[in-house]
Amino acid sequence: MAELRLPARIQKESRAKVSRTCPPHRAWVRKHHCSVPGSRRLPVECAHVRIGTSGGTAIKPSDRWCISLCRHHHAEQHRLGQRSFEGRYSLDLVTLAKEFARRSPHWRCLQAIENLNAATFPAKSRPVRRLAARSGAD
Ligand SMILES: [Zn+2]
Repeated sequence: MAELRLPARIQKESRAKVSRTCPPHRAWVRKHHCSVPGSRRLPVECAHVRIGTSGGTAIKPSDRWCISLCRHHHAEQHRLGQRSFEGRYSLDLVTLAKEFARRSPHWRCLQAIENLNAATFPAKSRPVRRLAARSGAD
């Protein structure tokens, strides 16, 4: 009698990787000059924006949240931290990233990232600020 065989296992995709990247958008962002006003330094890199976006402290934000920065200012953004960097150059990086996403020819890809993130991390399962919630109750 022939050996009974199960159907092949379905290959598991790396969902986190698939759902958060859009290389064509990153390439399009890099075709702009540096987002720091007056900077014409090259090369330009794709810098991810972390505060007020889908990126947590340990998780790199999705490609929906990126802006163009020259290598010099990208390194400075990491060195200073986002808030200090924004203050120094009077920039709002979140608004800028939103505008890059809105004007991107790859906005459908970016929208798919957001839809997948919303399905993977529903609002009610996001961590709650326990200290704020507890104060007043004790
Ligand atoms: Zn620059």
